[in-house]
Amino acid sequence: MLRVGLTGGIGSGKSTVADRLAEHGARVIDADRISREVVAVGTDGLAEIAARFGPEVLDADGALDRAAMARLVFGDEAARSDLNGIVHPRVAARTAELMAEAGSDAIVVHDVPLLVENGYQADYHLVIIVDAPVEQRVRRLVDRGLPEEDARARIGAQASEAQRRDAADIWLDNGAELDRIRSSVDELWRERLVPFEANIRSRSP
Ligand code: ATP
Repeated sequence: MLRVGLTGGIGSGKSTVADRLAEHGARVIDADRISREVVAVGTDGLAEIAARFGPEVLDADGALDRAAMARLVFGDEAARSDLNGIVHPRVAARTAELMAEAGSDAIVVHDVPLLVENGYQADYHLVIIVDAPVEQRVRRLVDRGLPEEDARARIGAQASEAQRRDAADIWLDNGAELDRIRSSVDELWRERLVPFEANIRSRSP
């Protein structure tokens, strides 16, 4: 199995790249989606959160109120660590399950928004970073309905370009039109990922 980590700042084009890789046959594992699934209504993850933090972190439908949860752990290290202690093992277990399901010949692409911020580079054979100029990312986020101020604040809170460059094995520039990034991904698949996976397979007993 070739394990590829995929990351990049908010609005850089991670999902666009992940979707294109999936079209080629990569097994994409979406860390954001898993972290929502393990605390969805009816899960024991959500029950544990409610038991620890009380009903004020649930909304009227009994789902996790993310904004209320974020306010509660903001600046409270013990609360944050309790929350992580509930969420992280569940995310890790579900991720391991999906990796195992993918099978030994798969090219697995793990889409992890905070890969660089959390220092997870060593978990992967290759780390792909998608990037685009800040102004284009702001425009894409605003087009998706995020207020400009929020878009800039979120971009500012993430890893810097220098930190990402340090972590990257492959740097994908998504500053041009969609066709360009798609053809960069096609080339990456053909020239780097498929040969790398074949090489791993030929060396495994
Ligand atoms: P997030 O961090 O919010 O998950 P992301 O990094 O996954 O975002 P995408 O969802 O792939 O980014 O892209 C953000 C938005 O910008 C989407 O609406 C997407 O269609 C659009 N987009 C991505 N790349 C381009 C491009 N090269 N040209 C124009 N629009 C683009």
